[in-house]
Amino acid sequence: MSEKEDLEKLAKEVDDIAKEPDTYTDPEMQAAKEERDAAIQAVMERKVFLSEKYVEPHRTPGRWIKEEDLPRVLEDAAVMHEMCMVGRGDYNHAFAIAHTQICDEDPLRFFVNADGQIYINPVIVDKSQEIHQVQEGCMSYPAEPMKQTVRFKDVTVRYRTVGHKVNPNTEEDLGEHFLTKETRHKLDGEAAQVMQHECQHLNGSDIYLGSSSDSLHEKKVDIKNDK
Ligand SMILES: [Zn+2]
Repeated sequence: MSEKEDLEKLAKEVDDIAKEPDTYTDPEMQAAKEERDAAIQAVMERKVFLSEKYVEPHRTPGRWIKEEDLPRVLEDAAVMHEMCMVGRGDYNHAFAIAHTQICDEDPLRFFVNADGQIYINPVIVDKSQEIHQVQEGCMSYPAEPMKQTVRFKDVTVRYRTVGHKVNPNTEEDLGEHFLTKETRHKLDGEAAQVMQHECQHLNGSDIYLGSSSDSLHEKKVDIKNDK
């Protein structure tokens, strides 16, 4: 279902509810009705708000993130996580959203996956010899058919994330954040595919924008910049 149809369906449900009386004499029924109306209104407004967050596809890569960028990372990551869950057009959900998909002026090098995990300054540092053909879609192109794409079967990635300072005695979150040291992980299957798709976005390309070999390249990445 397209985004428009989705909203039309929602609008119809709202219409159906609108057929009920405007006011109930029973105050409890009336309160329940008002609560329902408000909830539907909030969902509709949120859905429109989230779909308007996508920017037109562009070729500006994500800038390397430093400690001082963290407030912006956290603020945008919360929205991007919601975008993953809400989906767009025919996509009911996304595996991940890259910051370049919601920002074209000063995009940052991070993405968020459907679990809300934040991958900061991710770089693919090693890959398997083996490649495979996969079908991929992209949230930035809700109307495009899925595309045959070439990916490495396994990749080793290094990235940072957001650390939370906690009280060592009570483990209470102190609400202070920091950029963690880099960690390395070897990924395979879907996780490896998502990582390559998102790194492609962060390098200023995507499956529709790039040449077919772009999906196997990290040529614009200079890992010395992550200091
Ligand atoms: Zn994408």
